[in-house]
Amino acid sequence: MSDLSINDLHVSVADREILKGINLGINKGEVHAIMGPNGTGKSTLSNAIMGHPNYIVTQGQVIFKGKNILELEPNERAQMGIFLAFQYPVSIPGVTVANFLRMAINAKRKANNPESHGIPIPEFRKLLKSKMELLEMDTSFGGRYLNEGFSGGEKKRTEILQMAALEPEIAILDETDSGLDIDALRIVSDGVNTLRGPGMGVLVITHYQRILNYIKPDFVHVMLDGRIVESGGFELAEQLELHGYELLRKKYAA
Ligand code: ADP
Ligand code: MG
Repeated sequence: MSDLSINDLHVSVADREILKGINLGINKGEVHAIMGPNGTGKSTLSNAIMGHPNYIVTQGQVIFKGKNILELEPNERAQMGIFLAFQYPVSIPGVTVANFLRMAINAKRKANNPESHGIPIPEFRKLLKSKMELLEMDTSFGGRYLNEGFSGGEKKRTEILQMAALEPEIAILDETDSGLDIDALRIVSDGVNTLRGPGMGVLVITHYQRILNYIKPDFVHVMLDGRIVESGGFELAEQLELHGYELLRKKYAA
């Protein structure tokens, strides 16, 4: 079994079945991409994995560390080591990026060890500094209020910094369609490339082929109408870039 196993996952939204039996395994050290046209259910998959209450799982399992995480609260899923990139559309005046990250790290430590007093400030400062250097971020960023007046690119940077600080075992990045300009694509792909390694599995969900030229995933999956219809290596993304989704649509037309 893979480190994260999605088995026969069916999900309904507003009484309509959107995901119709998704099977997918992700191991630490692997980078997977799910591609698909708009409206095929990509975000539904990330929302269901994350535990969004509007996304009703009617069948199937998501197994991580021997547990069906669908039975857990979203924060419990995160504390187990699954990172789900929220877009954090709300700004939090008065809470700096650094404070926010420290709270997130402390929540994770406390969940794993109730005796934990959280990360000591000097250790946190060191960690934050090293992660920001790794991601080539300006250290003044940590002092800014979370998402207040952030550009799309800065929000992405915050998301990647959060991923770096939390050191998840599985990271899921849903590149929603809006507001991702070329700079934001670069930020996300550079971040993933810097952080990818044997300790982390990554799932990048996207409808842009472009980002995959920068990230070069190990595995590519194509989702059409709530199902993964093809899986392969990077060449699958290249084929899609050449031919678009039309050939696959015809091949798999219901
Ligand atoms: P993708 O991310 O691939 O573009 P989505 O998962 O966002 O696709 O959407 C798949 C389908 O589910 C679409 O038809 C969309 O309208 C519907 N859907 C998604 N979220 C909701 C929601 N909260 N309420 C109603 N319909 C939704
Ligand atoms: Mg989407």
